[in-house]
Amino acid sequence: MSSTENAPSTDFIREIIEKDLASGKNDGKVITRFPPEPNGYLHLGHAKSICLNFGLAQQYQGRCHLRFDDTNPAKEDPEYVDSIQEDVKWLGFDWNNHLYHASDYFEKLYDYAVQLIQKGKAYVCDLTLEEIRQNRGVPTRPGVESPYRSRSVEENLELFERMRKGEFEEGSKVLRAKIDMASPNLHMRDPVIYRIKKAAHHRTGDKWVVYPMYDFTHCLSDSIEGITHSVCTLEFEVHRPLYDWVLDALDVECHPQQIEFARLKLSYTVMSKRKLLELVHEGLVDGWNDPRMPTISGIRRRGYTPESIREFCKSIGVTKFNGMTDIAVLEHSVRGHLNKTAPRRMAVLKPLKVVFENLPEDYHEELDAVNNPEDPDAGKRKISFSREIYIDQDDFMEDPPKKFHRLTPGKEVRLKYAYIIKCERAIKDEATGEIIEVRCTLDPETRSGMPGADRKVKGVLGWVDAKTAVSAEVRLYDRLFNVPDPAADEKDGVDFKSHLNPDSLSILENSKIEASLAEAAPGETFQFERIGYFTPDSRYSKPGQPVFNRTVSLRDTWAKFQKPGGK
Ligand code: ATP
Ligand code: MG
Repeated sequence: MSSTENAPSTDFIREIIEKDLASGKNDGKVITRFPPEPNGYLHLGHAKSICLNFGLAQQYQGRCHLRFDDTNPAKEDPEYVDSIQEDVKWLGFDWNNHLYHASDYFEKLYDYAVQLIQKGKAYVCDLTLEEIRQNRGVPTRPGVESPYRSRSVEENLELFERMRKGEFEEGSKVLRAKIDMASPNLHMRDPVIYRIKKAAHHRTGDKWVVYPMYDFTHCLSDSIEGITHSVCTLEFEVHRPLYDWVLDALDVECHPQQIEFARLKLSYTVMSKRKLLELVHEGLVDGWNDPRMPTISGIRRRGYTPESIREFCKSIGVTKFNGMTDIAVLEHSVRGHLNKTAPRRMAVLKPLKVVFENLPEDYHEELDAVNNPEDPDAGKRKISFSREIYIDQDDFMEDPPKKFHRLTPGKEVRLKYAYIIKCERAIKDEATGEIIEVRCTLDPETRSGMPGADRKVKGVLGWVDAKTAVSAEVRLYDRLFNVPDPAADEKDGVDFKSHLNPDSLSILENSKIEASLAEAAPGETFQFERIGYFTPDSRYSKPGQPVFNRTVSLRDTWAKFQKPGGK
């Protein structure tokens, strides 16, 4: 690795932390957290937050907590809790023994709410949520104070306790912070901090019928855990006065600093759990880990590597400005890492048989192939060669345009790691006219690596030996949506799903792969030479019967499949 790749990036958050470290704030500690709500699978936006929070902890010898923000019993599921842990680990990060749940703090949070009431800073309100919303007003006009705002501390304490005991119906009462109904910040207009919800929670069961709201829970969870820098996305900037108000109002030992950064938005995809859930529930994708999904489990199934995601997050940096990142930037990071690490293999996606007329029927030999030209330690392997091989249908044209440097009657090309061959003629299906076989002769003096092999011809083709090749299904992916910002016209009533790309998956059922790939396992990504990067699909692959996902093309491959008649 070069020194620039190792150099820590810097940004406004690191500047804040370094200033704090220099001034001795927080006793020189850096404690961050990644706080997902377990209501869906993690996506690339979360990866940005994970790389940032865990990355800060690593860089400043601190620690990063994984905290499940599980205060909404209705939407959460243990399946999500498990997948989130798996995904964070896969990205290469470790919370050690600092795994927490906001639901572990329910008792403490309740006590803090009681404390707030005792200080005259919270009250039980009997308005409905709809009435509360109407009374909140607009930024330029003060809201209307609740008729219950002046309840006595004693009455509030008694009512809040009875709320906890389940004496009131859902929606009939809430606990509200008593702040300022004229504040220009709507979040400060007596926000609801507790509500009644008679639903079982996946961790606390039926113990609670009152649940704390996000703004009350989050700052206090940070404080309880001794977080120093609470890093979140920009939409929480307007919540920061409330975050600080709650911690100032209560007797707490730790008051973390909330710092906001711009969320990741990638072109040609959506990055909201709600939308991703819709795609899954409506069966529009093959589950949360469909290789086209921007989820961590999806990109893992597709063959992206954790290193490439970390490199991507580093390359886009951390700023205060919301913008859209081109998905090509992500693919660039993926190619960059796979180019260095992926073993090279031979494969032909759309096979066309080539027969050498000057070789005997039983001809067979083993040739040397380089495993990875970028990695001298990767060595070589033997690939088998015989009288019949396959090349790609796209690499032959009977009547080619001028600059076609692949196989065509009367012309020569080199087969990678093998010989220079000359095309004699094409054999066609008499009924359809379709080319079913190409007849060639081979120049035995031109074997790669031998004297004479330096004779130059224009084209070099990939191929596999017909005798030993294995058949495989190959799945090619294109963008999931056919517009850069699928949710852009949602405000005009257009469903983001109407922008799904109907051609985002194409399946080639009879590709031919070199024999050594038959036993490849999910988690291994290969470069099919001259084609792209591929990995066995974790759902459909079976030993000996591989199904390969295309991870990413080598720049020009997709264009090749898009050309008319290319499929
Ligand atoms: P979504 O918008 O997908 O529903 P969320 O923000 O509700 O996501 P959480 O589970 O609350 O999801 O997020 C956990 C953490 O990940 C939060 O700190 C959040 O700010 C961060 N995060 C979520 N989406 C992004 C994103 N696109 N870019 C950067 N960070 C993100
Ligand atoms: Mg959220």
